[in-house]
Amino acid sequence: MKSLVLIGGGHAHMITLSKLESFISKGYQVTVIQPSDYHYYSGMGPGMLGGTYAPDDIRFATKTLVESKGGRFVKAHASRIDPEQQMVYLEESDEKIKYDVLSCNAGSYVPKNIVTGRGNNVFTAKPIEELNRAKETILEKLNEGPISIAVIGGGPAAAEIAGNIHQLCKQKALHQPHIQLFSGHGLMSKGSARVQKLVRKLLVRKGIEIIEKGYVKKVADGTITVENDITYRADIIFPAIGVKPSEIFSKSGLDVGPDGGLKVNSFLQSTSHVNIFGGGDCIYYADQPLDKVGVYAVRQNLVLYHNLMAALEEKRLEKFSPGGDYLLIYNLGDGEGVLSKWSFTFSGKLAFIIKDYIDRKFIKLHAYVDDSGYFFKKD
Ligand SMILES: Cc1cc2nc3c(=O)[nH]c(=O)nc-3n(C[C@H](O)[C@H](O)[C@H](O)COP(=O)(O)OP(=O)(O)OC[C@H]3O[C@@H](n4cnc5c(N)ncnc54)[C@H](O)[C@@H]3O)c2cc1C
Repeated sequence: MKSLVLIGGGHAHMITLSKLESFISKGYQVTVIQPSDYHYYSGMGPGMLGGTYAPDDIRFATKTLVESKGGRFVKAHASRIDPEQQMVYLEESDEKIKYDVLSCNAGSYVPKNIVTGRGNNVFTAKPIEELNRAKETILEKLNEGPISIAVIGGGPAAAEIAGNIHQLCKQKALHQPHIQLFSGHGLMSKGSARVQKLVRKLLVRKGIEIIEKGYVKKVADGTITVENDITYRADIIFPAIGVKPSEIFSKSGLDVGPDGGLKVNSFLQSTSHVNIFGGGDCIYYADQPLDKVGVYAVRQNLVLYHNLMAALEEKRLEKFSPGGDYLLIYNLGDGEGVLSKWSFTFSGKLAFIIKDYIDRKFIKLHAYVDDSGYFFKKD
């Protein structure tokens, strides 16, 4: 009996997971490896930090779904792949999982190499579930007295986190913490001049201090050291300094891109091993390196599903086309956002209303609710 193994039940595996029975009914064994019973929808993560959404509103019950469809769910981190023996190794146990076809959607992580010392009260922007733990810590600490919070990073994740911390404290009618955003040499520097201006305006209006005196080089026990050796103190620190693909592939002797992501061709197939596929933040798409945004992971779903089935059945693979420009909406807290597509950009309540509508629709499309929580939609 052939075996399909999925590493991570991320955004690019949603259709494969929702159609798992189509593999099982053909006699294939399916195993899904993931460190959490749930997969969190990242687009709503900052809103969960800000208290707009509860964890249940933004997550998918991967374990329940897989088991309800006859697959096997293994709660673990995949640590390494042996492509010659066709085995996946796990971080938490000695079990090795055999595959005939493997698909990787293990996402990305925020490097913590600037953090030394005990790392207490340091929360990264990923995994998204960290943001819920961060929320509880902020509320606990604020009950003890005034605090300062540092967000390190100048991109969308950092801006969204800073704005939503402000919302969280405002909603709970607590003293506002002093929020500092360490944005290196410029805030939203990959966005247009208008996006930069609007994001800055909204954050400054909330009283968030934007520090652009250079990159943070060290975080140790509540002290933040910037390039020019100026230091700052903070009670809670969020490194949101960009993401890197999961490290599994560089440890496994597979072809990888310059960022360490699994190098794939236009069939989303490893360029070194024909029975390994992947999607989302953990791949390096050789034809045209893609931004690390959920939009591409979502667009890869259908092709990945088709190609996994085709690989098992030894049929023709389909090509993935990344598609054109995509809509960007940033949730900056307090029901406000910045929306941008092509040269059209605006900020305010409407931007957030549109984002909230799209995000909730996405969750509804892939999930339904019953007494025990959220499940992927049954097709
Ligand atoms: C704060 C924040 C907000 C964002 N907002 C947006 C947005 O609004 N729109 C947008 O398009 N993009 C957004 N992004 C980018 C987006 O998060 C990523 O591009 C998207 O999550 C990629 O999806 P993925 O499925 O590849 O990875 P992930 O969402 O990271 O999913 C990976 C899955 O793999 C599992 N996994 C991890 N390691 C292992 C392992 N070793 N073994 C097995 N399983 C593993 C994880 O548990 C997880 O379920 C945001 C990012 C952040 C940090």
